[in-house]
Amino acid sequence: MDSVGKVYGSGRNAVHALNDVTMALPRGTFTAVMGPSGSGKSTFLHCAAGLDRTTSGKVWLGDTELSRLKEDALTELRRERVGFVFQAYNLLDSLTVEQNITLPFRLADKPIQHDRLRTALAAVSLSEQPDRYPSQLSGGQRQRVAIARALINQPDAVFADEPTGALDTRTGRQILELLRQVVKEMGQTVLMVTHDPVAASHADSVVFLADGRLAGELRSPSPEKVADRMTRLGEW
Ligand code: ADP
Repeated sequence: MDSVGKVYGSGRNAVHALNDVTMALPRGTFTAVMGPSGSGKSTFLHCAAGLDRTTSGKVWLGDTELSRLKEDALTELRRERVGFVFQAYNLLDSLTVEQNITLPFRLADKPIQHDRLRTALAAVSLSEQPDRYPSQLSGGQRQRVAIARALINQPDAVFADEPTGALDTRTGRQILELLRQVVKEMGQTVLMVTHDPVAASHADSVVFLADGRLAGELRSPSPEKVADRMTRLGEW
């Protein structure tokens, strides 16, 4: 994204959630976004993923510039070229694991590609449980279903918003290791918003936001280095 700004509201009530943010997400990398509460992390993720429009600047997904797209085209891009993983899993309780994972095909009115389903199920180690319902799964398994659903279209990028926020430490670590594996072995590009230095340390690099501006980047992060940088941003 190039010089991206996002303003909510107008006049005296205007909130400048993002200011002149320029950054690239190289293909096949895992990037974490950190910053104090209110620093613009969610806004950044929403703008980068085409869930929200920027006020100024440009966002590209591959060669496509998002602000040029009409609403229909943006919806299609979100459905076919972007994968989402949320803290609350966002699975449909009335659908099985397999039906949840293949939902993107059904929403796009396309036939289910069974080879992709098999690959996605295997990638998240759920090949043995395709017929279970979300209520029969643990939190970690539910998040793995959500990750498989995010991968099924082989998207240009996967956007994860606090994907381990609802999980215990051990399960959270397994999910982060799975995301790493997806980047390493499937060449996926992953952007994750988190407030947890341990979670962020699983990424290839961490970018920091403060007051809607980029406030540095840390490559090969360790939890200690991330926490130290956050302290200096005034988080704790
Ligand atoms: P973070 O995810 O880092 O907590 P956000 O991106 O949610 O930060 O918010 C950045 C700023 O934008 C905050 O000041 C927040 O209050 C404001 N903001 C976010 N969404 C909206 C909205 N829909 N309307 C008005 N202000 C908003």
